[in-house]
Amino acid sequence: MAINAPEGTYDLLPDQKLFWEQFKNTARDVFGRYGYLPIETPSMERTDLFVRGIGEATDVVSKEMFEVLSGGNMAKVLAGETLPAKKRLSLRPEGTAGVVRACVQHDLVPQGAPPAKLMYAGPMFRAERPQQGRQREFNQVGIECLGADDPSIDAEAIIMLMRFFAEVGIPHTSMTLLLNSMGCATCRPAYRDAVRAYMEQHVDALCDTCRQRMDLNPLRAFDCKNSECAAVMEDAPKIGEYLCDECQAHYAQVRGLLELAGIQYVEDARLVRGLDYYTRTVFEVQVAGSGKAQNAIGGGGRYDKLAEEIGGRPTPGFGFALGFERCVHVLEDAGHAFPHAHACQAFVACVDDEVRTDAFALAQILRDAGVAAETDHQHRSLKSQFKLADKLGAQVVVILGPDELREGNVRIRDMRSHEETVVPKDVAAGTVASLL
Ligand code: AMP
Repeated sequence: MAINAPEGTYDLLPDQKLFWEQFKNTARDVFGRYGYLPIETPSMERTDLFVRGIGEATDVVSKEMFEVLSGGNMAKVLAGETLPAKKRLSLRPEGTAGVVRACVQHDLVPQGAPPAKLMYAGPMFRAERPQQGRQREFNQVGIECLGADDPSIDAEAIIMLMRFFAEVGIPHTSMTLLLNSMGCATCRPAYRDAVRAYMEQHVDALCDTCRQRMDLNPLRAFDCKNSECAAVMEDAPKIGEYLCDECQAHYAQVRGLLELAGIQYVEDARLVRGLDYYTRTVFEVQVAGSGKAQNAIGGGGRYDKLAEEIGGRPTPGFGFALGFERCVHVLEDAGHAFPHAHACQAFVACVDDEVRTDAFALAQILRDAGVAAETDHQHRSLKSQFKLADKLGAQVVVILGPDELREGNVRIRDMRSHEETVVPKDVAAGTVASLL
């Protein structure tokens, strides 16, 4: 039986791969205008980085991490041995923890330095139940800005994300920007206690998971998909009433800067985001559609304590990530014209087998001149070679016939205008290039 890609993973076929490359280039271009530089961190990190950074009680860490075991370590684990922390590895479920780890490890944010603005693009892995818009391996583009806690960083990054979505073609009218502040270490504990007390009063209506969450991390209950829990949490205390003066002022400045930039947002007191590390600003960009879980195309927020959590000096940070596959779905629904991957610009066709070696050699000369060139490898008829050239997207076909070749010439056809010219073989590459 044929072996397919694992459940929840998929292949990026050439057209999709081309779009993914374009998508990343657009991100590099847009984010680059705001000073963000690319970084690439490993696809796997020590498990304790995610446990400490993202939080043990989060779904991502407690249920969705793929742990990586080498053959030797697998045998040890099966024999009941506990591996030391440095040998316990997991595939990254998100990009922030790795980038912050890299900033700490390489001291990218020395004291007094301007903020480090970094962007990444690559696969993330979560052992979620696969469904439309939810994969086990999916691609994210994200940014992290470390070393500044000013609200202008938050606003600038959100504006930049909305610019990026517009530039890739996500219809402006389909997006809603949800905004909230989650407070800080000063004000959030009191809020968390208030939510816990409220949940205790309504414990009978809560699902088992939310009852467990109540002790460890009651705010997670705002994310519960169970309709009874959602109804209970609808009336739970709102963070706005608990924010300390500093958090209130920070949040007001973020909103003010967004308004100045003409960015519309909706305040959502229930937006707490799935990961533990957020402080103050959190946001999510949702698109209209069915099934709330898959509506988010991007989101992020401020994480002023994360660097310390993973052993660095106190370094405020802000970041977001957006999901490539979810953006593709939105673009498909909007009738977006996706690019097609073309294997060749010029096709070298042979009138008969006698000129096959010359065609092979000419294709080489064209490639050396920077032209994507293809020739026939299957002894097709001339007519079928033209069909193939068309299918491959060739803009030019160079026709080699024994008569022309005897005089040192080739025939060049412009596939768009259908005009043909006969030129000396040694200027063929230049003529082809001028037609592209
Ligand atoms: P998160 O790190 O959960 O905030 O995710 C950021 C973005 O990544 C989301 O807004 C989605 O667009 C995308 N995303 C998250 N999880 C998945 C998944 N399992 N499959 C596909 N895209 C995802």
